[in-house]
Amino acid sequence: MNIQVSCPHCQHTVTTELKWPLSDLFCASCNQLVFPHLTDSLKNQKKLEQCPACGASHLYRRKDFNQRLGIFLIVLGISLAYFTYGISLLAVTLLDFFLFRRVQEVGICYSCEAQFRNSPLVEALEPFDLELFDYYKNLKERTLNTPDS
Ligand SMILES: [Zn+2]
Ligand SMILES: [Zn+2]
Repeated sequence: MNIQVSCPHCQHTVTTELKWPLSDLFCASCNQLVFPHLTDSLKNQKKLEQCPACGASHLYRRKDFNQRLGIFLIVLGISLAYFTYGISLLAVTLLDFFLFRRVQEVGICYSCEAQFRNSPLVEALEPFDLELFDYYKNLKERTLNTPDS
C-alpha cells in the first residue's frame, strides 16, 4: 500500500510504501511514530477501519484521477486540432477515456487527509459521504478555534 500522510507530530509529509508485516514507521523529520493509531486489523492487513495517523474512524475512497491533467489534455487537443486536422482532439479524447478507465481508487482520511493507494483495503472503503465530511470539518474548525489553555 502506498501512503502519503502528514506526520501527526510535525506535519512533515511522509510518502512511502507500506509492506506487510508492518514495522513501525518513524518520521524522517521528528523521529516519532507516524502511525500512533495503528490497529490490529490493519496490522493483519484485514481492514483500514481507522486512520493510522490521526485515529479518525472514517475514511472514504474516490477515483484517483488528476483533473488538472485531464483539462490540460483537452486544452492541448483543442489547440493542436487546427494543425492536425482534428486528429489531436480524437487522440486526447481517447487518452482521457483510457486514463479515466484505468484510474485507481484512493482512500482518504476525512480528518487529516492521509492518502492510501494500491491496496485491496482501499477498495473496501465506503465512498465519499458529505455528512461525514462536514462533521469532520466542523470538528477541525472547533479545535482550531479553541484557545490553548
Ligand atoms: Zn514528524
Ligand atoms: Zn487521519
